[in-house]
Amino acid sequence: MKTGKVLVTGGAGYIGSHIVRELNDARRDLRIVDDLSQGHRAAVGDTPLTVAGFADAEFLDGGLDGVDYLVHMAAFCEVGESMNAPAKYYANNLTASLALLEAARRAGVRGIVFSSTAAVYGEPESTPIDEDHPQRPTNPYGETKLAFERALRWYHEAHGLRSVALRYFNAAGAHPDGSIGEDHAPETHLIPRLLRATEQGAEPMSIFGNDYETRDGTCVRDYVHVCDLARAHVRALDALAEERVGAEAFNLGNGEGFSVLEVVDHVERVTGRRPATTSAPRRAGDPATLVASSERIARQLGWSAGHPELGEIIETAWRWYRAHPSGYS
Ligand code: UDP
Repeated sequence: MKTGKVLVTGGAGYIGSHIVRELNDARRDLRIVDDLSQGHRAAVGDTPLTVAGFADAEFLDGGLDGVDYLVHMAAFCEVGESMNAPAKYYANNLTASLALLEAARRAGVRGIVFSSTAAVYGEPESTPIDEDHPQRPTNPYGETKLAFERALRWYHEAHGLRSVALRYFNAAGAHPDGSIGEDHAPETHLIPRLLRATEQGAEPMSIFGNDYETRDGTCVRDYVHVCDLARAHVRALDALAEERVGAEAFNLGNGEGFSVLEVVDHVERVTGRRPATTSAPRRAGDPATLVASSERIARQLGWSAGHPELGEIIETAWRWYRAHPSGYS
């Protein structure tokens, strides 16, 4: 499928760099804009990279010329941080993204793939969650992602601009070749923190909440391999190019939930070491359980997970961690 020129915002980040790898493997014509505030130059090889904010006036003045499709990944994505700094999330994930969207429309971009999140649903009323489940975010992160999804729908209505919002559940793992992976500073995500906590003398990792209404009291999440997420973007771009979608949202998960304690057990099995953990209060904004139904994307875009097993997901993260204990630096 021909998808013309593709611009990936945030393409040097954790999920973005795996999408870039997938698009390069599929021989797509792509470039990246990333301000490297969270991304890493080393994560994108020799893919053309503009170091800039995606909504900087200098970038928007010409940066979208000739772009046919946009993959909009650049965002802040920490639930906990969003509870303490809502303005940061509104400014970037919504206001700046709207400026990009308007510039994309003016430049004649034909379609957008948007990185959305399970956090748009809030506290689930039923599990697994499908796309028609009520959307009542419990944190500014989910709220701003949902607001932008809605803007995309109105842009389709008003201007015919097509879009696919992919609602990621918990992205995890790393490229199986161990060359790219997760490197956040500070690292807040469960699996990389647990891997670190397997080191001798490491600080114990806090388990946020043990009194949730789940099978063992800890939060249940649906972990999906980052390369499976990345492949879904290629499918979405093809569906846009073939005009098979209008403005759609799809869940991306494995349909199976694991509690924090179950993830701890899996990490021990994979690494042969028990991570050090300690109990801590609940993290504000965290729903008890988030598990996806991904039937819609399976049906409409033919997507399915290639690495659905949590053990395999952790294995790839472990391979990356062992090869790069300090990340890209
Ligand atoms: N979590 C935890 N301790 C940590 C980091 C995360 O107990 O140090 C829990 C968190 O409360 C959530 C799950 O692990 O239930 C996954 O959190 P993560 O931050 O990895 O992803 P999120 O669900 O926020 O996208």
